[in-house]
Amino acid sequence: MSDHGEGPAIGIDLGTTNLCVAVWQNGRAEIIVNDQGKRTTPSYVAFTHTERLVGDAAKTQVARNPTNSVFDAKRLIGRRFSDPLVQSDINHFPFKVIEGPGDTPMIIVEYKGKERHFSAEEISSMVLRRMREIAEDYLGTIVKNAVVTVPAYFNDSQRKATRDAAGLAGLNVLRIINEPTAATIAYGLHRMDSSIGKKNVLIFDLGGGTTDVSLITIEKGVFEVKAVAGDTHLGGEDFDNRMVKHFVNIFKRQHKVDISKNSKALRRLKNACEKAKEVLSSAMETTIDVDSLCNGIDFISTITRAKFAELNMDLFRKCIHIVEKCLTDAKMDKSCVHDVVVTGGSSRIPKVQELLREFFNGKELCKCINPDEAVACGAAVQAAILTGMGNEKLQDIVLLDVTPLSLGIEVHGSDMSIVIPRNTAIPTKKKEIYTTMRDNQTSMLFSVYMGEGDRTCDNNLLGQFELSGIPLAPRGVTKAKLCFDIDTNRILNVSAKEMTTGVTSKITFTNYKGRLSSEENDRMVQDAEICKAEDDEDRKKFEAWLKFGGHVVNGIATVAGLYFMGAGKIKFK
Ligand code: AMP
Repeated sequence: MSDHGEGPAIGIDLGTTNLCVAVWQNGRAEIIVNDQGKRTTPSYVAFTHTERLVGDAAKTQVARNPTNSVFDAKRLIGRRFSDPLVQSDINHFPFKVIEGPGDTPMIIVEYKGKERHFSAEEISSMVLRRMREIAEDYLGTIVKNAVVTVPAYFNDSQRKATRDAAGLAGLNVLRIINEPTAATIAYGLHRMDSSIGKKNVLIFDLGGGTTDVSLITIEKGVFEVKAVAGDTHLGGEDFDNRMVKHFVNIFKRQHKVDISKNSKALRRLKNACEKAKEVLSSAMETTIDVDSLCNGIDFISTITRAKFAELNMDLFRKCIHIVEKCLTDAKMDKSCVHDVVVTGGSSRIPKVQELLREFFNGKELCKCINPDEAVACGAAVQAAILTGMGNEKLQDIVLLDVTPLSLGIEVHGSDMSIVIPRNTAIPTKKKEIYTTMRDNQTSMLFSVYMGEGDRTCDNNLLGQFELSGIPLAPRGVTKAKLCFDIDTNRILNVSAKEMTTGVTSKITFTNYKGRLSSEENDRMVQDAEICKAEDDEDRKKFEAWLKFGGHVVNGIATVAGLYFMGAGKIKFK
């Protein structure tokens, strides 16, 4: 049976802060609006003593329930608990994260009066499941297949964990693609009729939590990613935090009260700052107004666009350095860039746009695609191509992608020997010959690493495998051919073959640390089913409650209508 035969395939931009879902329909990529009528959905899941909330409903109650409202799961997904970035992130989360089995981060919440542990995959799957349901309502059919996007800098483990999350949400992932690559596809569609010859396009994607810059060439409908550079910890949230810090200081000066450890007050201030930041993209000045921020004190203060830019100038400049790095990696001068495309919600910030324009010597930026939606649209286009649903407009698109980090093995005890360099177009296959270091070695151990460090201790160990049963010989005589093979899904197969006997060994990285074991997967599927059953139970109770009431007033009926379309829950006893 073809996996593709089950309804339309959707494109999902699984962002750190927001999700956006699109489908190829009526000859174009259409955004699927959520149950609140919004085109993006916050990547939030909240747990209360009565229910589980997803998306907008979860985000709006964060200030009241900070320790049980989970966001930024994308920062944890596919990472180890001991990862310094995870350690640094969890210090800033209002919810608790502990070390789970196999060094995985586990999120702890109180749900229906009991302590519950969830992995980042499970949290992401809850949002993905909700989006799948919304897409099914919108399209009036079941939706099984999806193309999901990830930041360009996601490593194998993070990509596989994202795939696991989608799997837990009942989705079959046709392909995982890079966010900036998806944005380029959307952009290419817009410009295909008028573009002639070869174009170099720089995609600047500044989202809520990440920055991705890609250099892509488009020729006769063929997209080739030349280079990617990025920062997984630079985005809108960092700009919000700068503003929060600024106002915490002002509050302290004005009222002699330090709210820097008060998570509830900080969360409320952060919400206000995020709104103010967005307003400052179109106004020169705005006011922060938070009732009873702390100890019953109302907080009102103004901030100008210039002050906001001043607070963040070093971060904005960091974004431009990433652009420079991408161009250096692509060995391309900025004068060779034909178009600069901006995407991601934070790319609306005027100062960022100004710096980018200045860097490109006054070049006008391409903003013809809604920055929040470009990635999902590109993913939907890719989904349509993969399922053969696209029209002739899509048939000429061929997508080449690149490896974001170098891959290689450890040699001489601690040196990194690169087999596939960073920014190699994939799919790819590379072979290298390696030899023994000691006389009469009976086996060779291959440790596969990913990263840019010369020494393996600075890189990520993906896994190890052994080639045993090799013939006894002096050092340097026995030779093994090592083959690194990355398929279109970025799945890495590494094999080694001893050249005289033909004895082989290989590793496929489908089960290395960071990937769900089948038991973990089973447990999570079970948990997801329990959560769904609980949701269904809530829904039944609610329906019964409505029936029992018998005299439902209009207001409630309207809300109930939204509820049955999958909206945030309604409280009932
Ligand atoms: P994304 O990850 O692309 O969904 O972008 C989300 C980020 O974009 C959040 O940090 C938003 O606060 C930010 N954002 C959305 N609209 C604006 C705007 N008008 N000005 C500045 N930042 C914005």
